Amino acid sequence: MESNNKRIYLSSPHMTGNEHKYINQSFETNWIAPLGPNVDRFEEDLSQYVGAKGALAVSSGTAAIHLALRLLNVQAGDKVFCSSLTFVASASPILYQQAEPVFIDSEFDTWNMSPEALKRAFMDAEKEGNLPKAVIVVHLYGQNAKMDEIMEICNFYQVPVIEDAAESLGTTYKGRKSGTTGKFGVYSFNGNKIITTSGGGMLVSNDKVALVKGKFLASQARDNKPYYQHSELGYNYRMSNILAGIGIAQLAVIEDRVKQKQAVFQRYVQELNNIKEFVFMPEYQGTGHNRWLTTLFIDSNQLSFTPFELVQELEKENIEARLVWKPMHLQPLLNKFKYYQHSNQISVSSYLFERGLCLPSGTNMTEEEQSRVIEAILSFVSRRKSRHFIGI
Ligand SMILES: *Cc1c(COP(=O)(O)O)cnc(C)c1O
Repeated sequence: MESNNKRIYLSSPHMTGNEHKYINQSFETNWIAPLGPNVDRFEEDLSQYVGAKGALAVSSGTAAIHLALRLLNVQAGDKVFCSSLTFVASASPILYQQAEPVFIDSEFDTWNMSPEALKRAFMDAEKEGNLPKAVIVVHLYGQNAKMDEIMEICNFYQVPVIEDAAESLGTTYKGRKSGTTGKFGVYSFNGNKIITTSGGGMLVSNDKVALVKGKFLASQARDNKPYYQHSELGYNYRMSNILAGIGIAQLAVIEDRVKQKQAVFQRYVQELNNIKEFVFMPEYQGTGHNRWLTTLFIDSNQLSFTPFELVQELEKENIEARLVWKPMHLQPLLNKFKYYQHSNQISVSSYLFERGLCLPSGTNMTEEEQSRVIEAILSFVSRRKSRHFIGI
């Protein structure tokens, strides 16, 4: 029993074997620095893949979001609208700038930013004469937000959009790649993302001038002088040439990874379809969902179990599952900021947090391992239901 109880992770790094080639090249040529041929090539490959005019490789997705805010001149006291249902890294760079986040709820079609709530937030901001400097739209768990509707509103108010596509590399939206509709797009290569460099990020844009400025800010903002002169505040945010080598090999298989993630999702849907309370995250019309993580919520007025109980049960079997992100407007760090819910009746992000669950979705998870997850869920749910039924 012990032998087949190996831990199953939510989404663990999945190497191809070719990473060594590029890592070795950086050693052989002594490009052990936050610049070099691997960095250049990784930027080139990624911008080509997503169809953006340029890309800037950085040390993390969080750094890329921070740079985007700097490039949009977000300063102390400025407002920035941001999706509430997300990981904290979407929002913390707003605080780095001492700007003021305003959180926007989700809607049920995509679990992402609600255009209705966004519109209300804009109408209020306009009345106050204090429009946001930027809007950060998150594409959660690989699902693209309703960009047409969101862009229409943001374009009307002439406010630029940053797409937090940290989780949606490989997702398509109406024929284009996720992260390429707004002014800036951000990807993450953290260890659990669909591809990884162990840690890293990328900022993409069609504005190449802005990316040149971004590179300047990411490399300590050194003036063009023969000595070290600095007129602006910069950061040390560049990506290592060694890690970029990992990225080149990883990006070469992104389409395979998307297919594998989708297959994992399909199998969960098929084999868990008897659990009527499970509502899987939908795939929005006109999109190709990368299914980074298979996510669902439990839809029942008489819940016989909570998502947390299921997470704990899976943990007993050495299986890592996770609750849906706790929304930003409910975070102790951020709950003093304004929040616009989807409608008077419902806060969708809060609902999804209370009922949502992410299942292990690694592309290197074997069929047997996924069977273990499925069996553990089925067994727990049937035990709970019978208990519920007889009223214990
Ligand atoms: C992972 C993630 C980030 C941050 O990326 P890092 O590379 O870990 O800094 C930002 N936003 C979302 C939605 C993420 O999932």
